[in-house]
Amino acid sequence: MLVFALAGLFVGSFVNICIDRVPRGESILALRSKCGSCREPLKIVHMIPIFGYLFTRGHCPHCGLRTPIRHLIVEIGTPVLFALIWLRYTGSLETTLIAFYSSLLIVFLVIDLERGTILDRVSYPAIAVALLFALWVPERTLLQMLAGGLIAFGTLFAIQLLFRPGKGIGVAKLAAFIGLAVGYPYVWVALLLALVVGGLFSVTLLLAKVIDRKDPIAIGPFLAVGAIAAMLFGELIMSWGTGGVGQIVKLLSF
Ligand SMILES: [Zn+2]
Repeated sequence: MLVFALAGLFVGSFVNICIDRVPRGESILALRSKCGSCREPLKIVHMIPIFGYLFTRGHCPHCGLRTPIRHLIVEIGTPVLFALIWLRYTGSLETTLIAFYSSLLIVFLVIDLERGTILDRVSYPAIAVALLFALWVPERTLLQMLAGGLIAFGTLFAIQLLFRPGKGIGVAKLAAFIGLAVGYPYVWVALLLALVVGGLFSVTLLLAKVIDRKDPIAIGPFLAVGAIAAMLFGELIMSWGTGGVGQIVKLLSF
């Protein structure tokens, strides 16, 4: 588990690189990162996960531009998530795939939070990869994975069309990826969690007058969190069975 969490540390760094570079259309493979402001390349020592951030106290060593605290959060959060995934999947073949999907979801989540958008440049390759691995996921059939994708895409497509016209269907593409990644019936756990938590969150903000009725609320981050939760605790949540979420999922699944 330690090795896997350690890998998560470096994946977290790479996730930050993707979040920084993909929206700008830069290559994610170039080794050295540049400062977002002065374009000076960073030294290798500054790219060490967590310590690089602490070492520079979150500032560019050349121009002093603040590095977003998000860098540190992702660098700490990814290895923690990897450790949880390891505990849940106990190092089975699926572990790496779930870790990969989770890392991709963090990219979606942070880009949506920071820029309010879900990029086709990320969703299309993600959907393609999930389609490919849908053939292989242990204990679930290709049909289950495809059904997951269709249900999630359809649900979010309908929500955008009915309640959020003009907002585009980027979020439905993210949902398609999530559905293909978690499959049926867990897709319902992911969707329900996202919509219930997102709904409660929005109502709270509305009541607290932090936001106005007209303010758009991003669904993407809630979907990403719901999907990660479904991958980690999907079976557990469904086994609550007799009441609550499990019952709703069962109703929706027949
Ligand atoms: Zn700089």
